[in-house]
Amino acid sequence: MTAQTMEELVSLCKRRGFLFQSNDIYGGIKGLYDYGPMGVEFKNNLKQAWWKSMVYERDDTEGLDASILSSPVVLKHSGHEDTFTDPLVDCRACKSRWRADQLFENNKCPNCKSEDLTEPRPFNLMFKTAIGPVDDGSSFAYLRPETCQQIFTNFKNILDSTSRTIPFGIAQMGKAFRNEITPRNFIFRVREFEQMELEFFVKPGTDDEWHEYWINKRIEWWVNQGIKKENLKKIEVEKNELAHYSKRTVDINYVFPHGEEELEGVANRTDFDLGSHTKNQYDFKITSEVMKNSSSTTKLAVQDLEEKNWYIPYVIEPSAGVDRGVLALLNEAYREENVDKDNKRILLSLKPHLSPIKAAVIPLKKNNEELVNLSKEIKSNLQKLGLGRVVLENSGNIGKNYRRHDEIGTPICLTVDFETLEDKSVTVRDRDTMKQERVSIENLSEYYKKYFN
Ligand code: ATP
Repeated sequence: MTAQTMEELVSLCKRRGFLFQSNDIYGGIKGLYDYGPMGVEFKNNLKQAWWKSMVYERDDTEGLDASILSSPVVLKHSGHEDTFTDPLVDCRACKSRWRADQLFENNKCPNCKSEDLTEPRPFNLMFKTAIGPVDDGSSFAYLRPETCQQIFTNFKNILDSTSRTIPFGIAQMGKAFRNEITPRNFIFRVREFEQMELEFFVKPGTDDEWHEYWINKRIEWWVNQGIKKENLKKIEVEKNELAHYSKRTVDINYVFPHGEEELEGVANRTDFDLGSHTKNQYDFKITSEVMKNSSSTTKLAVQDLEEKNWYIPYVIEPSAGVDRGVLALLNEAYREENVDKDNKRILLSLKPHLSPIKAAVIPLKKNNEELVNLSKEIKSNLQKLGLGRVVLENSGNIGKNYRRHDEIGTPICLTVDFETLEDKSVTVRDRDTMKQERVSIENLSEYYKKYFN
């Protein structure tokens, strides 16, 4: 079961501290959200899982964390200054603005239904900001609209400092900014978001095979995070809708509460980006239509170890949105079930490695010194295992604690009661089955670790 509506998720996220509208107390700003105490843990766990699978568990990738402020020269050569646009239309009747390709009824304003709309005109989605103390327009930067351009500009730095050979990849996670005309559907389409991107450099000719490999690998990864395979769709992007750099793109769509849309895109970016950022491009046989006359000072090329000629690698790019991942996984994990004939519960059946809180330790009686001290000790020992956040719940209301931890997806709750003082065991309650069992404190670390393997 998933959530039935987006409202159920929005309400849970606010109630339990996953997500808040940004600048809420001043009325909020559209398209911006803040991650609260549970949201930040959940998002970090998701990013960590991606980093683990893209960097730690592979022998052919490196990581990067580059600057967000990007030089206009970089975004000129990447094609973003000229082509990173959406078609904008104005409604002359109610003065609202829309993306022309997202008018649900053709040529009607979604707000007032007027047909008095302007012709679509290109609107560049990049945010600009001044660099330095004088804002006279002569020195500015863009907030990066995708994380990958600095991977391309650092290609040679990384190659030289790590002695990598093709094929290899560079992974990066971080913020990206797009001045979306109509942000909507909660955190699905926002103006400030995070991406997890891998640029995987391959020899031309091997690109089609690597592309297939990454499409399958990425679907497998989302399934491992807890998304049912039948809720993921592989969508071939039509030739006339491909981005300027792409030879082929396959979108991994997810059935969100508002409908099926893109969760991740896996593109074959060819030699477009490295070619565009390369000095003396004419020395190379570049297959894509790159920006001519690059002002770059560096050749982003590699030497073929056998044939000794220099070439510009092709790039396969799996690019996932962190926020769309958060939304998809919350939706997948959402359950509403009857506890008995009078009581219902909501729970997030998250995979334990993603749960914001890994375990809650609950002394049966609030402020009872013996119980609380022992609970603190248990909490601290579990925390030291380094598997994520463990909390102490000293409210004395077990029912309320169970409800809260079900709703935020905590895999286990440990209750320390008066018997614990005698038999040195605690009651462990499983989130999904609600089954309870006694586990001795001595065996608790091993028991707890098993949940995460
Ligand atoms: P869309 O067609 O939905 O606008 P896109 O094709 O422009 O997305 P890409 O440029 O391929 O998106 O970006 C890679 C990933 O970044 C997307 O799959 C998505 O998960 C995420 N992403 C892109 N734009 C946004 C946004 N405005 N808000 C949240 N996530 C986004």
